[in-house]
Amino acid sequence: MTHALHSAIASHTWLHFYQMQNLVERAPIVIERGEGAKVYDHNGKEYIDALAGLFCVNAGYGRKEIADAMHAQALKIHYVSSFSYPNEPAVRVADRLADLAPIAGDGEPRIFFVSGGSEAVESALKISKQYQRARGYRGRYKTISRRIAYHGTTMGALSVTGLQSVRAPFEPLVPGARHAPMPLPYRCPYCAHESACNLACVREIEDIVEQEGADTIAAIITEPVQNSGGCVVPAAGYYQRIRDLCDRTGIVMIMDEVICGFGRLGYWFGTEHWNVKADIITCAKGLTSGYSPLGAAIVKQEIADVFLGEERNKLMHGITFGGHPVSAAAALANLDIIEREALPQRAQESGAYLMGRLKEALDSSRIVGDIRGLGLFIGIELVKDKGTRESLHGEADMAWLSDELLARGIICRADDRLDPVIQLSPPLIIDKEEMDRVVTVLDEVIEGLEQRVIK
Ligand code: PLP
Repeated sequence: MTHALHSAIASHTWLHFYQMQNLVERAPIVIERGEGAKVYDHNGKEYIDALAGLFCVNAGYGRKEIADAMHAQALKIHYVSSFSYPNEPAVRVADRLADLAPIAGDGEPRIFFVSGGSEAVESALKISKQYQRARGYRGRYKTISRRIAYHGTTMGALSVTGLQSVRAPFEPLVPGARHAPMPLPYRCPYCAHESACNLACVREIEDIVEQEGADTIAAIITEPVQNSGGCVVPAAGYYQRIRDLCDRTGIVMIMDEVICGFGRLGYWFGTEHWNVKADIITCAKGLTSGYSPLGAAIVKQEIADVFLGEERNKLMHGITFGGHPVSAAAALANLDIIEREALPQRAQESGAYLMGRLKEALDSSRIVGDIRGLGLFIGIELVKDKGTRESLHGEADMAWLSDELLARGIICRADDRLDPVIQLSPPLIIDKEEMDRVVTVLDEVIEGLEQRVIK
C-alpha cells in the first residue's frame, strides 16, 4: 500500500462501528476485487468471503449480468424522483416481490422502496404507527422487539434494536419500545436443559401485550433467524403464536428479512420456514446482492389501503433515493439469477453439507458449545466449559481468532457482542471445495484458540 493511501485512510476515512485507531496504527487490508465466493486484497491475497460482504452478496461477486443491467439503466435514465413518478425497473421489482413474499391476507401487497435495511425498518414502523392512527388508535405507539436483536441505526430502528451498547449513546430513544427475551434454546432460562422447548419465550411477548394493553401496541418486529446473538433459530410454533397474537389484537406483525431474505435460509424469505405470513416484511442487502443500495417494506394490502383516498391519508414519509432506478435494475438482474440458479434450494443443500461437516470437525472441541443455524446462516458458539456452558469472553481471544482466520484466508465474523459466536454467511454460490476449506481452517484455528484459553 502506498504511503499516500494509508495516510488518507488514517486521516479521512471513517468505517462504521469501527475503532479507527486500529487503522491509524497499522495499514488495513483493502479489498480490491471479487469473483464468486472469493475476494482479493491489494496484495493479490485470496480470501473466501464466508460473510458475503456484510450478509449481502448472495449471488456472489463478479456478476457481469448485474453490472450490465445497471450500466444500461444508468444510460437510459439514472434517476427519477421517488416523490413524484414511478420508474419502470422499480415497478417491475415491486411486482416480483409482491409475488414472492409471504404476506398475510388475500390482497395484493404494496411495496415501499428505500435504500437500505435501517430505512426499511424505519418505514415499516412508521407505516404501522400511521396505520394504527388511521384506524382510530391514537394511543397505539409502542413496539415489541427482542433483546440483543439488531434492526438498524436510525432512531426508530435503533429503538427496536435490543443491543444496549449500541443504544446507550443516543438515549432517550423513540418512546414505547419494549424488548422480550431471545428464543435461544442453548441459553434459554426456561428450556436450555430440558429435552424440548416449551415456548416460554413467546409467552413473554404475550405477557408484555397483556401488561401494556394491546391497544397501546402498534407492531411486533422480529428477525426470522436473529443474527445478533449468533443465528438464533426459534422453535417450531414460535412465529405461529406471534401471528395468532397479532390476529387477535390488531398488532402489526413485521418480519425483518434484511439478512434472511433472498435465499439465505434456504427459502426466498426466511419466514417461509415457519409457514407463517407477516403483515409487513422488511428487506435490503440480498435484494441486489449488494451490487447497489436498495431496501423495501412489503406491506399487506389491508394496511396499504388505509393510506388511499383523501390527500391527507397518504403516508407522510419518503426519501430521495427510494427505489433508485439503477438499484432496481440491479435487483431485477439479481432476482433473475436467484431464480434461474435456484439459489434458495442450493442454500438448503449447501447449508446441510456445511453444517454436517462443521459438526463432524468441531463437535469434539472442548470450546465449541453449540453449532446452530438454518440454510447458509450458521453460528458456532464458543464456551470455556461445555458442561456448564460458561461463556468464553475475552476481546483479546476473539481478536486473535479474527486475525488468525484472516491470515489463513477466511473472512467471517468473530462476534463478541454477547456470548462469542463465529458467524458464517457465505455467498449462496459457494462450492464444496470452498466450504471444505472453511471447515479445515476453522478446525485448526479453533484448536489453536483452545490451547490459548484452556491451559
Ligand atoms: N435489520 C437487520 C436484521 C440487519 O441485520 C440490518 C443490518 O445488518 C439492518 C436491519 C440495517 O440494515 P442497513 O445496515 O442496510 O441499514
